[in-house]
Amino acid sequence: MMAPQAVHLGFDLHVLAEGPDVSAVKAVSSAPVGDYTDLETLRAFARGKDVVTFDHEHVPNEHLQTLIDEGVNVQPRPSALVHAQDKLVMRRAIEALGLPNPRWAAVASVAELVAFGDEAGWPVVLKTPRGGYDGKGVRIVEDHVAAQACADWFDAGRFDALLAEEKVDFSRELSAMVARTPGGEARAWPVVHTIQVDGVCDEVIAPAAELDPAVEEAAREAALTIAREFGVTGAMAAELFETPGHGAGFVINELAMRPHNTGHWSMDGCVTGQFEQHLRAVLDLPLGDTRPLGGRTVMKNYLGGANEDLYSMYQAALAAEPRAKIHAYGKSVRPGRKIGHINVVAEPGESVASVRERANRVAALIRDGQ
Ligand code: ADP
Repeated sequence: MMAPQAVHLGFDLHVLAEGPDVSAVKAVSSAPVGDYTDLETLRAFARGKDVVTFDHEHVPNEHLQTLIDEGVNVQPRPSALVHAQDKLVMRRAIEALGLPNPRWAAVASVAELVAFGDEAGWPVVLKTPRGGYDGKGVRIVEDHVAAQACADWFDAGRFDALLAEEKVDFSRELSAMVARTPGGEARAWPVVHTIQVDGVCDEVIAPAAELDPAVEEAAREAALTIAREFGVTGAMAAELFETPGHGAGFVINELAMRPHNTGHWSMDGCVTGQFEQHLRAVLDLPLGDTRPLGGRTVMKNYLGGANEDLYSMYQAALAAEPRAKIHAYGKSVRPGRKIGHINVVAEPGESVASVRERANRVAALIRDGQ
């Protein structure tokens, strides 16, 4: 999704592709296939490029550091990326900035988990510090008995410690996205409401409806502070839990340092979408305006479902909602796999419920074929 924006701006975008069939290969003219964990592959790929950036956070940091030492312009830096890769590092750093964390502890054993739960209250949320995504690597631990059943994670010995957090009693999940350049210019998009289903982002309402302006302001400021203090460059999402009436009105859940699912709405709903902004940011160019173009935008993901021939439904889906902007990822259909999203921008005076209805209708047609 960065590729069309690179074309608009006249940049040559090259992608180091994981395999010949990944979606990015269809979108760019130069997409060598290679292993992003192999230093020689990364070296060869980076040669002659103005800047190297990412659409995921899994390139080994030691390799990125080697590239930087050899003169490659890598954005964002591993020193920033580590906060999106390691949730314990993130918790400590957010605490040091005095920004809103849930109660948390690094726990190295079932006994320490139990001690944390007894102090902070049950249930507790237990997380692997690295390698989790879409809710994998997260367990809700109800009580002492359930804590004992987490022995497998401690025994596996993959991590020195796991992250234990209080189970936040949140009213909804929010996301505060920003972009920042190496020169220090930063801009925030409006804070959005993200609806998760089974730990996966399903729908985004942007800007979040009926959000306390003081909370919106504080959440934006927190994301901008994080970006500045951690030296983030490019796009960054701070995923938040809204906690009305408690503390700042939100706590920070986790960070992503790249264009993010909760920012897809900006592609059609904002003066500058996140993919264009990310490119401008990592190239240290002036950033674009982040204001919404019109009313609220609803972004609806569609996952692989009953319908395997997506295009067979385009006749019906496009006719059902002429305002829908479809973004298909060119991926094969597998149950539960994110294969595209739909943006619908509200007309003046249109209710959030109506826009959601429209976006969901189109997604259902494509996903289910009816
Ligand atoms: P991932 O890295 O897999 O996205 P998250 O840390 O975002 O994992 O957790 C996935 C989901 O689990 C969150 O979207 C939220 O719904 C729930 N969750 C995570 N941490 C907490 C917490 N401390 N309190 C309550 N719910 C939580």
